[in-house]
Amino acid sequence: MESCLFCKIIKKEIPAEIIDENDHAIFIKDISPQAPEHFLAIPRKHYPSIQAIPPEDHTLLKELMVSVAEFVKAHKLDEKGYRLVLNSGERSGQTVFHIHIHILSGRAMQWPPG
Ligand code: 5GP
Ligand code: ZN
Repeated sequence: MESCLFCKIIKKEIPAEIIDENDHAIFIKDISPQAPEHFLAIPRKHYPSIQAIPPEDHTLLKELMVSVAEFVKAHKLDEKGYRLVLNSGERSGQTVFHIHIHILSGRAMQWPPG
């Protein structure tokens, strides 16, 4: 999608600190970290939300989550504990309307999340 910030980062038209990437997703450092380690897992294909994915593309969800599982193992976040956050809709705090999973680690997390 032409105007989408994360599509531009994926196409390398806008710089970002890319930590990892595979055929399905890229992993970048969040520009405004909310934990000592704060990454975004971003699928290469543009959808604004998980519910916008049509059935023929549902494998994207599996590929994304498997990529996240590989990422947390490769970067030893599984040993520290981590939290995944997927904001959906303005009231949830979503500001970029291209699916992304926040991966937060490196500190104790609170519950309820607020
Ligand atoms: P959301 O609020 O949509 O769940 O998450 C969007 C995230 O993208 C925010 O945590 C925000 O800090 C991050 N972000 C916004 N613009 C940029 C950018 O240009 N580069 C990077 N690396 N992260 C960004
Ligand atoms: Zn996009």
